[in-house]
Amino acid sequence: MEDAVTAVTRYLVIKRLAGDTITILAIKEYLVDGLSPSTIGHKYRISKFRVRGYVQRVIDKARSHYIASSIVKAVFPYIMSIDPAILRVGERYICLLCDAQLRATQVEQHLKRKHKDVINQIVHQIINKLRKEKPS
Ligand SMILES: [Zn+2]
Repeated sequence: MEDAVTAVTRYLVIKRLAGDTITILAIKEYLVDGLSPSTIGHKYRISKFRVRGYVQRVIDKARSHYIASSIVKAVFPYIMSIDPAILRVGERYICLLCDAQLRATQVEQHLKRKHKDVINQIVHQIINKLRKEKPS
């Protein structure tokens, strides 16, 4: 099984590549900044249940609220510095890595299936940077 840092980083990398920055911000504002799900939901016009759902996915991967917060806090700046790979054009989504045209529901699956190597490379780069930051 993947370790917590890798699992959480991979989850956030895929969201960022997919252009789903709102999910990343919602997770960070809850776990790191301590905002309430209703405050975050109101800000990004999503339900507080959806905010809780996103956060729960990350906590499940980290297997602890505290570890999830620490990981998200550490990786957040690196995640935000990644360029999204998906461009939204009206109702369509274009993959900038291979020019495929996708529907919203296909975006994450496309990245996971077709660009697994890109995802793995970015995840490993971020984890290497974290190791240099905080030698264990
Ligand atoms: Zn593609």
